[in-house]
Amino acid sequence: MKRVVVLGSTGSIGRQALDVIGHSPDEFRVVGLSGWSNAELLLAQCREFRPEMVCVSEGAYRDFRGSPGPPGARVVSGASGLVELASMDAHLVLVGITGIAGLAPVLAAAKLGRTIALANKESIVAAGDIIEEQCKARGASIIPVDSEHSAIFQCLQSGKPGEVSRIILTASGGPFLGRSRRDLEKVSVAETLSHPNWRMGSKITVDSATLMNKGLEVIEAHHLFGVPYESIVVTVHPQSIVHSMVEFVDRSIMAQLSVPDMRIAIQYALTYPSRKPGPAERYEPWMKGPLTFSEPDTATFPLLRLAYETGKAGGAAPLVMSAANEIAVGAFLDGSIGFVDVSEIVIRVVVRSPRTCVGTLGEILEIDAWARRVSGEEVASVARRRGS
Ligand code: MG
Repeated sequence: MKRVVVLGSTGSIGRQALDVIGHSPDEFRVVGLSGWSNAELLLAQCREFRPEMVCVSEGAYRDFRGSPGPPGARVVSGASGLVELASMDAHLVLVGITGIAGLAPVLAAAKLGRTIALANKESIVAAGDIIEEQCKARGASIIPVDSEHSAIFQCLQSGKPGEVSRIILTASGGPFLGRSRRDLEKVSVAETLSHPNWRMGSKITVDSATLMNKGLEVIEAHHLFGVPYESIVVTVHPQSIVHSMVEFVDRSIMAQLSVPDMRIAIQYALTYPSRKPGPAERYEPWMKGPLTFSEPDTATFPLLRLAYETGKAGGAAPLVMSAANEIAVGAFLDGSIGFVDVSEIVIRVVVRSPRTCVGTLGEILEIDAWARRVSGEEVASVARRRGS
């Protein structure tokens, strides 16, 4: 039985991971779970999976431990609790939490040489070099859970690393595909959150609409697969059937296809290197209509282009972009700023970013804090203008 820790078990990825695990109770034993604000669901998951340790937010700690409490589990809390959970004796640590909060647990698991099923792209964007170094030094490995990166990971198995010539990342285009910059000035939070193909958490759904998600994925692909930015291209594929492609030196292209169901990528990360029957629906090529591909509109959605620029610049730039984006997306979701303000604020903060190298977790957290503070100021100034 594989001992599995699921960080972010009440989120979209975590719930689907437990669904996959629930379909194969003889293969996996859930030893650790973490949730943040949905204590009720976390408690229900604890009753079903009986983990040895469970982590909640500091605010929820007292209530959660009290009666009835999770049966037989040690309860820990906050950022240090997540690190404790990631350091458990386990075969696989699935990191399904969003944002920079995923970084410390990823590094903790890497230091112990664990296999990490990674759905948290912000940690790779912020600290790709450090994570890579730790994994190499301690024999840890990362299996991508992001659907595109899982697709690339699967396609790569049909060639050797030196035989790859390009990675072709597919993007659904999000809910505003084909819209003009002017149209975007009036879009609401509700429209932004109604993604045509995927049901995901709200932060990543906004990122998908701005194409920031694809930008973060370009940087993620660069680090995970060691491919230069010049050899990573993005194509818009609104049907979300082809999850990405790998072109080899002989110009042969391998693609991975399926219905858009995250459980396929999650399950592959859990069962790798084997494949097992799973709960996803079958893709029938003749029923879903034509598959189309086009170039992304980076004039309307500038954050994709910005991601390439920050990725190539390296140092603090990708980290600052990702932190500014987290703050701006939060402000858009709570109604303080508009949709187009998100990309404008992120660009403004990146322009101001310090030209420093980031070598340690401490330096990363320092620059992250700076970027969040500056982004908060930018948000406040936009909100004041909108209010007047
Ligand atoms: Mg993705």
